Amino acid sequence: MSFLAVELIKKKRNKGAHTEEEIEFLIKQYTAGQIADYQMSSWLMATFLNGMQESETLALTKSMLNSGDVVSFSHLADFKVDKHSTGGVGDKTSLILGPIVAAAGLKVPMISGRGLGHTGGTLDKLESIPGFNTQISIEHFKNMVADIGISFIGQTLNICPADKKIYALRDVTATVESLPLICASIMSKKLAEGIDGLVLDVKFGSGAFMKTETQATELAKALMAIAKGYGKKVVALITDMDRPLGRYAGNAFEVFECLEIMKGEKDKYADTRELSLQLSAHMMNLSGQYSSLEHAYQQAVEILDSGKALKKFRELCTAHSGDIDKINLSPKFSKEIKSSGSGFIKSMDTEQIGLAGIVIRAGRKVSADLIDPVAGIEFYKKTGDPVKANETVYRVFGSNESEVEQAAARLESSYSVTEVEPITSNLIRQVLY
Ligand code: URA
Repeated sequence: MSFLAVELIKKKRNKGAHTEEEIEFLIKQYTAGQIADYQMSSWLMATFLNGMQESETLALTKSMLNSGDVVSFSHLADFKVDKHSTGGVGDKTSLILGPIVAAAGLKVPMISGRGLGHTGGTLDKLESIPGFNTQISIEHFKNMVADIGISFIGQTLNICPADKKIYALRDVTATVESLPLICASIMSKKLAEGIDGLVLDVKFGSGAFMKTETQATELAKALMAIAKGYGKKVVALITDMDRPLGRYAGNAFEVFECLEIMKGEKDKYADTRELSLQLSAHMMNLSGQYSSLEHAYQQAVEILDSGKALKKFRELCTAHSGDIDKINLSPKFSKEIKSSGSGFIKSMDTEQIGLAGIVIRAGRKVSADLIDPVAGIEFYKKTGDPVKANETVYRVFGSNESEVEQAAARLESSYSVTEVEPITSNLIRQVLY
């Protein structure tokens, strides 16, 4: 069926609802280069301003999903499950939960992204392991999932090419923060993985995309509606990103933190460990192979504590040609940020911390920026912790002295101290089924 792009723009401008055919036409023609960027930009802004009905968001997801290859694991009887996080600072749980769930006998195909803006990306973390190759073919990805239960791959040219093109346009036309556009973008990529179940970690707070719990809940519900519309099992955890997760942000050191947890460290990185276990338990429970969520959680703890997750992680690294024993954990320059007052850490501006991470090139401002794998920030104190004057709050490190100095200056103003002990809230705020 053929339409005029200008008529479709006018319909959305006038708050109309598109048919499935109209959306399919728009996405197909734009991906094929038959609709110009200026027309698509205009439609994106109309959609940003006027929203979409649930049926339109489903149709948009479908068109983006079908714009490229969809991985099929129908030949594998095991339950296929993934986790998607909406992104944060120090968010490294995929590196722990992936091996736990694969060691439990489920299949974990993970199409992951790179860091952009103040939030990090799983591919950058994995690529800080010397030799680790995420640019593998879909066939290789499928074989690895079949053989060892887990593999990580980047969004290749052939997976959701429509999303790739549209996301780049949204980035420069101020149309990223639109619920239907975000939902279709995230879910088209997740559905392309050929999964049966999905656990969503929807974050809110200063370091998250969604600043309030209400916004995060709204996004979680919209993502879940699409997953359910596609017959997938889904659960969403609403989690706090008003403070960074764990002890480190920065690629090689985040891998190090995960290794420490998989080697048995329980206290130093308690928040990362607990969130990884909870997410693993939900992923495992979706398979229907456990009598309850508690049972799945106990099994996840057993896999982590017995060293089976570490063994699976090593197997994963070897399969991706990575040498985990050669990871560089020796940054050239380092600077400590000391507290000016004493009392308790009242708050942390996690977005500012993420932006300091960009300065040392632990993250990127634009997608072409190069990463310094060894650069990072260590958190000696987190919100609610007691602190004395002149005690270290952060340590920032990297390969370039001036970048480390600039990041340190930014970190100086990223936290506040109070005399009264603040009330800290739970990391996991809600679970939505
Ligand atoms: N992540 C995505 O993949 N797409 C969006 O639109 C926003 C976040």
